[in-house]
Amino acid sequence: MLSYIVLSILALTGSGFAQVATEYVDPDNGITFWGITDPVHLVTHGYVFPPVSAGSTEFIGEIVAPISAAWAGVSPGGEMVDNLLLMAWANGNTVMGTNRFATDYIQPVPYAGPIITDLPSTKVNSTHWKWVYRCQNCTVWDGGSLNTNAFVAPAWVFSSIAVDDPSDINTDFQEHTDFGFYGSNFSAAHASAADYNNWAAGGTGSSGGSTTTTTTTTTTTTTATSSPTVAPTPYDYIVVGAGPGGIIAADRLSEAGKKVLLLERGGPSTWETGGRYAPTWAQGHNLTKFDIPGLFETMFTDSNEFWWCDDITVFAGCLVGGGTSVNGALYWIPTSDDFSTATGWPSSWSNGAHDTYVNMMQQRLPSTDHPSTDGERYLEQVSSVVGQLLNGQGYSNITINDNPNFKDHAYGYSAYDFVNGKRGGPVATYLQTAQSRSNFQMEIYTYASNVVRNGSTILGVQTNNTAIGPNGYVPLNPNGRVILSAGSYGSPRILFLSGIGPSDMLDIVSNDPTYGPQLPPQADWIDLPVGYNVSDNPSINLVFTQPSIDAYNNWATVWADPRPADSAQYLENQSGVLAQASPRLNFWRAYGGVTDNVIRYLQGTARPGAASINTTMTYNARQVWFSFIVRVKAHSRISTIFTITAYLSTGITSRGRIGIDASLRPQPLIDPWFEDPGDEPVILQGLKDIVSNLDSVPGLTMITPDDTMTMEEYVNLYDRSTMDSNHWVGSNSILQVVDENVKVMGTDNLFVIDASIMPRLPMGNPHGALMSAAEHAVANILALQGGP
Ligand SMILES: Cc1cc2nc3c(=O)[nH]c(=O)nc-3n(C[C@H](O)[C@H](O)[C@H](O)COP(=O)(O)OP(=O)(O)OC[C@H]3O[C@@H](n4cnc5c(N)ncnc54)[C@H](O)[C@@H]3O)c2cc1C
Repeated sequence: MLSYIVLSILALTGSGFAQVATEYVDPDNGITFWGITDPVHLVTHGYVFPPVSAGSTEFIGEIVAPISAAWAGVSPGGEMVDNLLLMAWANGNTVMGTNRFATDYIQPVPYAGPIITDLPSTKVNSTHWKWVYRCQNCTVWDGGSLNTNAFVAPAWVFSSIAVDDPSDINTDFQEHTDFGFYGSNFSAAHASAADYNNWAAGGTGSSGGSTTTTTTTTTTTTTATSSPTVAPTPYDYIVVGAGPGGIIAADRLSEAGKKVLLLERGGPSTWETGGRYAPTWAQGHNLTKFDIPGLFETMFTDSNEFWWCDDITVFAGCLVGGGTSVNGALYWIPTSDDFSTATGWPSSWSNGAHDTYVNMMQQRLPSTDHPSTDGERYLEQVSSVVGQLLNGQGYSNITINDNPNFKDHAYGYSAYDFVNGKRGGPVATYLQTAQSRSNFQMEIYTYASNVVRNGSTILGVQTNNTAIGPNGYVPLNPNGRVILSAGSYGSPRILFLSGIGPSDMLDIVSNDPTYGPQLPPQADWIDLPVGYNVSDNPSINLVFTQPSIDAYNNWATVWADPRPADSAQYLENQSGVLAQASPRLNFWRAYGGVTDNVIRYLQGTARPGAASINTTMTYNARQVWFSFIVRVKAHSRISTIFTITAYLSTGITSRGRIGIDASLRPQPLIDPWFEDPGDEPVILQGLKDIVSNLDSVPGLTMITPDDTMTMEEYVNLYDRSTMDSNHWVGSNSILQVVDENVKVMGTDNLFVIDASIMPRLPMGNPHGALMSAAEHAVANILALQGGP
């Protein structure tokens, strides 16, 4: 079977490949592939991809083998286990092509999900057999994904021993007799949209070339096949995005008896949702990476990060649960000020009108500051050291969620929405009730590009999933409604691709060869400030040591080699250190009059170990941080290290802007940290205050910044690109893009329920306030006249 170790070494060295893919044109079909012909067996393997574009999950591939080859196969991802495998053989004059999957070095079995369509140039002649196939839903699979825009190391396999039953597409077969790897710059292997679409439809030649009259055949190797005409199924509500906003919306709508479709571009997460990605030590216990709270820090250090949206430049979760399946799960009951007219919310949401929805959320999802199932707290040295520090500054030690409005000089144990020692959140609660109803349907691995509209009326949603509607189109029932819940980056992109937003963004879409032609006529473009008014907490880390601290190996061993007593305890009854994410203590303090009269709050989060990249890093800036982490870990004697992350929260006045680039990838156009001159002095003052009485705690030393640098110099030099807290809000702000019923202004039946509607940051990490906002928003939608 494929050698994982060999592959890893090759992938790391990059230059160690015996062969590197080059461009070639297959004379039979005119398709320009990137691939190789292996010099021993003379089998050709090639791939070509559509233009780099958000949501594309397909490619065209071919295997051309001498007739003597009993079977041949490929792993575009380069590994055998937990990867999409494609293989073929000749059965008489027919080529049998199938996709397989193996969760270990065992017999790969047929795998549902990919849609394989044989293209017309597939053939057998006297010397060769050739399999040319279109592979849809093929770049993301259970536990992995294919980066089609990078230099990669695909693998090939060859066998001189026939499969067990060549006439059976689902046949077993013996281990291959040879295998190899090569280097391929997939980022160069993207065709124009015109060429790719032509080839994918069975056409030949380039630049749009001629379409053959031969029909394509779709294989039935697995349960999924591409069917050109799937009957449209209309829904009352189509919700796009299974993050917290979308899950709560879909649950409440289905509870009200509406026929609901929830679309999610990613795959499963927790065990309950069908996820299976877990560390070796947790195998056999119905647990995944996404279930075990103590694996939170490994979200950022795994070699196989399929859960991030790979087309968004900041961290965003692209899997069932969205951010709540990968986040630290810090869960704060909103303050009354979080929903006030002073902070941009409508009066119908303010002055206590929102309290009902906070209560509804808490009933479904209570918070806990002692998530271990035995009720004990573990690894609490940081709480006690930072508590001592804050006591000296006049702070009170409280149970934070018992008194949400007490946020000035208050600290307490970190609170979470973990349930029974596992990740809880909306996935373990609201999604479960939704899934118990026959009027609710969820489709995963389904990317929604845009809504289809006639002027102000939305007719349906365009997706890439041809199994759920003709060409992936899903219509609405009469008076039906669409709710966008694709997150602060995802929902703006869908709006732009639907002709809604500022003209500079819509101009970018109109220049795109695939999505430009699908835009509504310019007269129907709706000009709204989508992407403006964006906030995220600027955050700065301070790193300390103190002799009593257990840094827990910087969380570096929890995946591969956890402390045996801790993993055993967790597996036994979900108790102990691993029943909690890394944070241990949170605190807040109000500041006014530092340079202006705005009241701003500082939030602190303290955790054992060196600061995790999650709180401080954009997706793109991680490499820089890795070098820091490596240096810290090299000093493994610093086993008494801990971090305080200080965030500026309520009252922040800086705003940024989110948009798309020419490849339609969402990203910050203007970073929202320290845009306004009033914010930076407050965080600087807050940092100085945190360390104002360091000497009062025995053995406490600050190492970043150390004593060679003033706090002013530290803040001044702090890399702005590492200030991201992953708490993005505001890109579809209420009363600016959506009205008080979260309806997109200028439309009849398009709504948004996600973090993008929040006009400013709440007091704490945002998903608590977002979930109560989702409860409120969906209640408003249900109460709105004229719906289905
Ligand atoms: C690393 C990290 C740590 C965090 N830590 C915390 C924390 O400890 N506490 C806290 O309160 N908050 C935290 N957050 C923030 C919190 O998770 C988010 O505020 C919250 O998840 C936002 O919810 P949402 O519904 O707006 O969108 P998301 O959670 O982003 O969900 C959007 C969903 O839509 C899907 N989607 C996107 N585009 C499409 C499309 N075109 N078609 C179909 N599906 C689509 C995505 O795959 C995703 O599942 C953290 C976030 C991150 C990334």
